[in-house]
Amino acid sequence: MSRHSKIFIGLILGAAAGVLCNVFFAAAPFLDIVQIYISDPLGKIFLNLLIMMVIPLVFASLSLGVAQIGDLKKLGRIGFKTISYFLLVTTLAVTIGLVLVNLIRPGDYLPAETKTQLLSSYKEQATQIKEATEKTEFGIQTLVNIIPRNPFSAIARPNPDMLALIFISLIVGIALTIIDKSRAEPLIRLLEGINDVTVVVINIAMKFAPYGVAALIFSVTSRFGFDLLVALSMYIITVLLGLAIHQFGVFPILIKTFARYNPLLFFRKVQTVMLTAFSTSSSNATLPTTISVSQNNLGIPSHISGFVLPLGATMNMNGTALFEGVTVLFLAQVFGIHLSLGVQLIVVIMSVLTAVGSAGVPSGSIPLLVIVLSMVNIPPEGIAIILGVDRLLDMCRTVLNVTGDITCAAYISRSEGFELNK
Ligand code: ASP
Repeated sequence: MSRHSKIFIGLILGAAAGVLCNVFFAAAPFLDIVQIYISDPLGKIFLNLLIMMVIPLVFASLSLGVAQIGDLKKLGRIGFKTISYFLLVTTLAVTIGLVLVNLIRPGDYLPAETKTQLLSSYKEQATQIKEATEKTEFGIQTLVNIIPRNPFSAIARPNPDMLALIFISLIVGIALTIIDKSRAEPLIRLLEGINDVTVVVINIAMKFAPYGVAALIFSVTSRFGFDLLVALSMYIITVLLGLAIHQFGVFPILIKTFARYNPLLFFRKVQTVMLTAFSTSSSNATLPTTISVSQNNLGIPSHISGFVLPLGATMNMNGTALFEGVTVLFLAQVFGIHLSLGVQLIVVIMSVLTAVGSAGVPSGSIPLLVIVLSMVNIPPEGIAIILGVDRLLDMCRTVLNVTGDITCAAYISRSEGFELNK
């Protein structure tokens, strides 16, 4: 049986068991024990196995990608195309979200008592997030921090600064192209070695994927407040509709026109990536799979996938930006705050920028979303209203985040004259 079929079965079984436990055994003490001692640790072990390889993988594949591209003019061209694609497609995604939220106006459907109830039940979590964001700088300092004073302290923390890591990797890659070939060779060999080792570790981790995925989904569904689905249904529908339009409308058009590839075949080839993204809610945890599927199934050359995909896992988040745009406007509607077209334009720009700065981990965008809310004068504690359904939306938006990265890599490959696998 293929790997994605096994993961898919794990996903379905985990979800079904979780929903059943949620419905029939919500109050049973054994459910807590199963969650705390079995499903949570199993899910976290799987996620950790994937995420622990991300820093060496991003460093090795990005600097090698740059070194393999070789000449700086070519690097500039590929870099320019990649970043422009990221920004344009992400802006398009937010625009889709904003059009839908203005048309559907989900905020008008939320009953006042549900709003008060949600604000109080998720108050503690919302306050914690708010306090954490007070320490997060977003602005000119974010830009300065991209160039770290100490590269080790930038990454040796629980939430590594991925933009700083990207910068270090790019600079090292560029330096490798400048120094003498014979001097560059030993480091290139070492980086190739690191790359190969990460591939093997990830392959081992992915053997465990069907169980890890089942555990992750079980933890989510067995705790999920399904009554929230009904209370927030119009909001959820708006986000999911936007994501679906982007995933199944915009991506196929981009794949057809820019990568000149059959969209159906594309989706079939990247199934494992979409499943991994859905179940882990993390672009970073999916990155190793994204890279290997792009190279092995689609035939994207290693210097292009090694360059575009690590950048994309942090910087290109179409689903996240769309979700942020919809959420800001939804909360404005809930609080009866009118956002003029000018302010909505700021929401578009901020959603794109914060999506670039969001960490590719579960709920990585939430702290930055809180910052956008305060910027446009919406009470940031309003985030409490959507926290209960965030994981579900996160699973879906992460699928777009990683699919978007591969569509970009496919486009860059074609535009650089490489044929993709049929
Ligand atoms: N979970 C998302 C990702 O990893 C980020 C987010 O939207 O919170 O791509």
